[in-house]
Amino acid sequence: MKLHLYDTYKRELREFEPLNPDEVGLYTCGPTVYNFAHIGNLRTYLFEDTLRRVLAYNGYNVKHVMNITDVGHLVSDGDTGEDKMEAGSKRTGKSAWEIAELYTDAFIEDLKLLNILEPTIWCKATDHIQEQIDVVKCIEEKGYTYRTSDGIYLDTSKLDSYGYLARLDIEGLQAGSRVDQGEKRNLTDFALWKFSPEGEQRQMEWDSPWGVGFPGWHIECSAMSAKFLGTFFDIHCGGEDHIPVHHTNEIAQTQACYGTTLANFWMHGYFLQLSEAKMSKSSGEFLRVQSLIDRGIDPIAYRYFNLNAHYRTKLNFSWESLDGAQKGLDRLRKTFHSWGSKSGEVNQELLDQFVEFINNDLNMPRAMAVAWDLTRSDISDADKRATMLVFDEIMGLRLAEWQPKTVEVPAEILEMLEKRTEARKARNWAEADAMRDQIQAAGYEIEDTPEGPKVKLKK
Ligand code: AMP
Ligand code: ZN
Repeated sequence: MKLHLYDTYKRELREFEPLNPDEVGLYTCGPTVYNFAHIGNLRTYLFEDTLRRVLAYNGYNVKHVMNITDVGHLVSDGDTGEDKMEAGSKRTGKSAWEIAELYTDAFIEDLKLLNILEPTIWCKATDHIQEQIDVVKCIEEKGYTYRTSDGIYLDTSKLDSYGYLARLDIEGLQAGSRVDQGEKRNLTDFALWKFSPEGEQRQMEWDSPWGVGFPGWHIECSAMSAKFLGTFFDIHCGGEDHIPVHHTNEIAQTQACYGTTLANFWMHGYFLQLSEAKMSKSSGEFLRVQSLIDRGIDPIAYRYFNLNAHYRTKLNFSWESLDGAQKGLDRLRKTFHSWGSKSGEVNQELLDQFVEFINNDLNMPRAMAVAWDLTRSDISDADKRATMLVFDEIMGLRLAEWQPKTVEVPAEILEMLEKRTEARKARNWAEADAMRDQIQAAGYEIEDTPEGPKVKLKK
């Protein structure tokens, strides 16, 4: 099956055809680095990682760009309230620049722990202020902006198809709104450039043709994606919350300036559902990768947990289901390990089934079921290993790296094992069983592997 992906813009499953056969452009909205990423955020990055791996499996050379939002994202997700970075600075007593660096590094560490491939290009909003000013100027020249006392705004009523991505009912929204829209002409208008408040020195502010201030949140993605991937590229991704505001506004900016919808495919990962407290970055319960590690959960088990749900369905978080994922992963690792280290031939039939699912809009739950079918199939261990290694290029579970924990087995236990082996050779089953029972009574168990019997601590 050829690769098909669900495009939120057209609301349909479409065959993926690259705009340029040599290189697929992928832009994924990155983190706002005012705190650690929570495990919900990371579900979106895991979905995007699967997409990237599936594109690579299909032979595409992917140029993956991810931004770091280190300025301009206001607490309200709109145009009011404090900048998240300045708020983070107050919370920690560190400068906005320091926390940006701290949480960017922590984010990159999280990606490594989850075996998420790093983007080809990282780009920070604060490194691209001029590019953002240039796009705002372009939108202004085309006649889509107006000025208020706090910034330069985009007049969304001037765009014919504003809100199409989210199928926004603009008139209904406007009629039902109880929000004070201040000086904004339309409820959906948004800031392209915000002025620094009168008499207040922000930590992050720049000069611009309109006055000292900082860029609006959405403009960074329009400016940086256009810089690195062009004004119409293959795929743009983010979490589902980006559909009605952030991505809708990125499209508005790009349409106003370049006349394009920015990307050929718009893809969105659905939310991990956690209680408010487990996601609220100010609460003590706020869950991040380190919280999983503290509970004895391997970050890769969190990856496994996510692979068992389709990216376009909501996923409920619970510790029970995460423990279940850890058990499933342990079982898969041990099974893989038991096949030994020799790889044979890839089984074409099983591979075809696997690819059928991954190419059908990244249906990982079904693909994972094929991986389990493989463990139960009657092909040789070496062929199982070779086939599973190909699957793992997509699953990213690092199966080949895993080794059972080795423990120092006391000499007397090894002696008993030796006696058991001798007894079995001599077909003295009673003695062999007695040795096995003694080994077990001492808290160990025997595992018969292709390389001979081994003892390990009983679980
Ligand atoms: P932020 O750091 O807040 O800009 O968000 C980073 C990414 O996480 C964005 O793509 C969001 O859409 C996504 N996101 C936020 N909350 C969740 C959640 N509960 N589940 C999945 N993705 C989320
Ligand atoms: Zn973005």
